[in-house]
Amino acid sequence: MNTFTLLEMTATSFPERIAVHSDGRDITYSALYRAACGAAATFQKSGCQYVSVLDVNSPAVPIALYGAAAAGLSFVPLNYRLTEVELDKLKARIQPLYLVDQVGREDFIAKSMAYEGESPKVPDDPRAIAVQLFTSGTTGAPKAAVLRHENLMSYILGTVEFAGADQNEASLVSVPPYHIAGISAVLSAVYAGRKLVQLPNFDADDWMKLVENQQVTHAFLVPTMLSRIVETIDAGRNACNLGSLRAIAYGGGNMPEAVIRRALEIFPQVAFTNAYGLTETSSTIALMTPDDHREALSSNDPQIAGRLQSVGKPLASVEVEIRDDSGNVLAAGSVGEVYVRGAQVSGEYLERKATTSDGWFPTRDRGYLDKLGYLYLMGRADDIIVRGGENISPGEIEDVLTSHEAIADACVVGIPDSDWGECVVAAVVLAHGKWVDVAALQQLVRGKMRSSRVPGEIRFLPSLPYNEMGKLLRRTVREAFCPPAT
Ligand code: ATP
Repeated sequence: MNTFTLLEMTATSFPERIAVHSDGRDITYSALYRAACGAAATFQKSGCQYVSVLDVNSPAVPIALYGAAAAGLSFVPLNYRLTEVELDKLKARIQPLYLVDQVGREDFIAKSMAYEGESPKVPDDPRAIAVQLFTSGTTGAPKAAVLRHENLMSYILGTVEFAGADQNEASLVSVPPYHIAGISAVLSAVYAGRKLVQLPNFDADDWMKLVENQQVTHAFLVPTMLSRIVETIDAGRNACNLGSLRAIAYGGGNMPEAVIRRALEIFPQVAFTNAYGLTETSSTIALMTPDDHREALSSNDPQIAGRLQSVGKPLASVEVEIRDDSGNVLAAGSVGEVYVRGAQVSGEYLERKATTSDGWFPTRDRGYLDKLGYLYLMGRADDIIVRGGENISPGEIEDVLTSHEAIADACVVGIPDSDWGECVVAAVVLAHGKWVDVAALQQLVRGKMRSSRVPGEIRFLPSLPYNEMGKLLRRTVREAFCPPAT
């Protein structure tokens, strides 16, 4: 099985359907297929082993992704926000490389689309590396996660119905192409036979204009994107008709409950799904379904209403277990590390395999399963603060800080302490027009938690650092308190 099959099947069934809409141009499935064949021929001629796109969302992404698959090469999209030094380090790990960047993009697209030669002989090696992604590096240096054709194919074949879309369905991708969510959007839209509508860079107004203009039915958003859309609508700044929207999946980070509650009110016609996944698992491994959302929203039972905080139940094709630090499997309700196993889980990096001998991948996410099998995440293991041997979860302290009406956002981190190993500090963002002093915030935490949780230092910042996937960059906050030695 090769991921190129996904495009081949759809192009054979619906050659005239629009496959990609990008920046005012439409590309049919047959044209995308020809372009991918053309790209494969170019890559093979160049003698490269890796193919990369260093750019925003554009037709070059599906052309290069499927072209690389057809040529039996690895697709390694790169983050255009990195510095030149950072990029050079990554590029050194993927040589010989065929790189499509912003400057060469139009030539690459035009040359690929003009191809009139033979279709390539597509290698059929399910164990070959289809995509290699450098993870965001939220918790450390970027790791090169390896996804084989068999991993991606089991995810797509298990979750997407071939030609399941009618010809009016359009899927809007606004997450960057170097993230697993951007890749899985390209793979799944094509296999379903949807039009893939590309937004080069996310902006709430542009997103809404594109929804109206292209009659978008499906979209994936990270929490910060949904939050911006909700804010724009609530501020009365949206003039677009968003009635075509039918389904929104969200994930990539923790969704604030207030945002999803408001989104469910604003878009009563939309089926919302919370999708939890990692790069190393080829994307989604657990889903909180639209029915779960509706039930939680309308229930007075705190347990059911509280499910809006859950990431739902594991997919039928994956197994999830919660384990303690010694690897023992924990019972429902106990917090530990989330482990996952299944055909879509690669759990593998270029340098090493991170799975146990029997195929379980430790996600480094902490959480618990309730008695009905709903998964709740409680932060990442690498963010835990260890103070005098005691494990402190920053998320719980952040919840207390943001419960104050003057605090819009909070980030709690541990910094080195000679007595305790680590001590707790916090960076907070004031809500517009509000004020509270440090002593009052420390008092608030002291009133609700043990004294070890009280931040020794609290700094006020205009905003907290988030990356483009909406992930809070705790490392940057930690470095602001405690600059790394140079
Ligand atoms: P690095 O591994 O280098 O730190 P990263 O973890 O940000 O980078 P990704 O694979 O993009 O790399 O992120 C996966 C993580 O995102 C998960 O482990 C989880 O912490 C978080 N996440 C993903 N989906 C959800 C979701 N629906 N709800 C809450 N958190 C989520």
